[in-house]
Amino acid sequence: MTELNEQALNLIEEIHFNCEADGCPFEEKYYVALNHVQTCNSSFHNCIQGCGLAIQGKDMEYHCIALCSKTLVRCNTCDTHYCPNIEGKPHSCDEILRAK
Ligand SMILES: [Zn+2]
Ligand SMILES: [Zn+2]
Ligand SMILES: [Zn+2]
Repeated sequence: MTELNEQALNLIEEIHFNCEADGCPFEEKYYVALNHVQTCNSSFHNCIQGCGLAIQGKDMEYHCIALCSKTLVRCNTCDTHYCPNIEGKPHSCDEILRAK
């Protein structure tokens, strides 16, 4: 690493960054801010389950539980994994058992 880079790094250590997300009060040093951007509750992140939607951090948990099309739960009755969040396509043990 060159001296110039070290200087720049020291400088960047001193600067505080504001989070760009609406309504987020976050302001911190660069490296903390880098981490924050991944987890900010007020900005949008790609769904952690990979359904392709962008979700606000604070809504991620709810999205994954109640909305995400990638969420899978296991049915105790037919022992099949299914997504409970696809509208108009309720899980039917009968159908699955018949197809087996
Ligand atoms: Zn933020
Ligand atoms: Zn999702
Ligand atoms: Zn079932």
